Amino acid sequence: MATEKKDIRALTKEQLRDFFVKQGDKAFRGNQVYEWLWQKAAYTFEDMTNVSKETRQMLEDNFVINHIQVDTMQRSSDGTVKNAVRLHDGLIVESVLIPTATRTTACVSSQVGCSLDCKFCATARLKRMRNLNPDEIYDQVVAIDSESRLYHNRPLSNIVFMGMGEPLMNYNNVIKAIDKITSSEGLGMSPKRITLSTSGVPKMIKKMADDDVKFNLAVSLHSAIEEVRTSIMPFNETFPLEDLREALEYWYEKTKRKISYEYVVWRGINDSQKDIDAFVKFCKYVPCKVNIIEYNPIDDGEFQQATNEALENYIASLEKNRIVVNVRRSRGKDIDAACGQLANKS
Ligand code: SAH
Repeated sequence: MATEKKDIRALTKEQLRDFFVKQGDKAFRGNQVYEWLWQKAAYTFEDMTNVSKETRQMLEDNFVINHIQVDTMQRSSDGTVKNAVRLHDGLIVESVLIPTATRTTACVSSQVGCSLDCKFCATARLKRMRNLNPDEIYDQVVAIDSESRLYHNRPLSNIVFMGMGEPLMNYNNVIKAIDKITSSEGLGMSPKRITLSTSGVPKMIKKMADDDVKFNLAVSLHSAIEEVRTSIMPFNETFPLEDLREALEYWYEKTKRKISYEYVVWRGINDSQKDIDAFVKFCKYVPCKVNIIEYNPIDDGEFQQATNEALENYIASLEKNRIVVNVRRSRGKDIDAACGQLANKS
């Protein structure tokens, strides 16, 4: 049922304290409720056991808690877990837990669907789109953290914004969520363990640098040749490589932090020596490292993973130029939880 009540988690702690004062109560009550909402992840006002019954009823009359619900959870044979998360308006996004020997990483979504139109990505095909609220992003992390503790006996160690959506098209909410994740009143995680991945929105990369953010930046490059990049990532026409380069230089100048490039190599698209040379040249503009990602096929087969030989050529050229390169094997393919597969079947 549609409700006019306000989402209580849209309030800052100060606003919540003010609310209680206006109700003739103590500001301190705001702190208690805030703690329930964030640190204790309460789903209902009923859960707030150190708050009086009348106060709980008063909150119930004024507010809602729009908590996400994990609708279905799938576990891959490699330990990867994928959550289909239902939002308060019935829309679904996905988040993934990726365990390795030394870390557990949450891959979270920032939008329902995506603002961009990458030809090789399943999420780009979803029509419906809205931005996620800060609390919807935060809740995904909390859900994955609990699963990490449950299935892997350890808390979450890292977060990547590589799920559905383009985080820089929902910048304010992503920043608010990260603030909460890193705050001692939220999860208290170090921003060094968080990576925001973007297709490359130059203006917003500069804004992040100006805002002095402390998390890491990854850019999904996939090609350093203008026509090739535009053919697979059409928004590149609006945000050309030259502007991206300038923004990345600005980022490095301000933050002194290396950039990671995400790169998939496809047969016949970006697997020639010319593609490699252009990429190596691009990598020299700003200190960086490279993650070559294995391609995860989405239904129609227009794109195909390049040969091992092409990958080896990339690696050899990058290493010859002293650029650090990792090859990332896909995880969770059997449950469509790998990069670019989110929304394939749910
Ligand atoms: N919009 C952001 C984050 C979401 S995509 C971004 O573009 O970075 C996360 C990563 O998965 C990106 O590097 C993206 O290019 C990559 N990706 C998308 N579809 C893929 C697929 N089918 N196989 C492998 N990687 C894919």
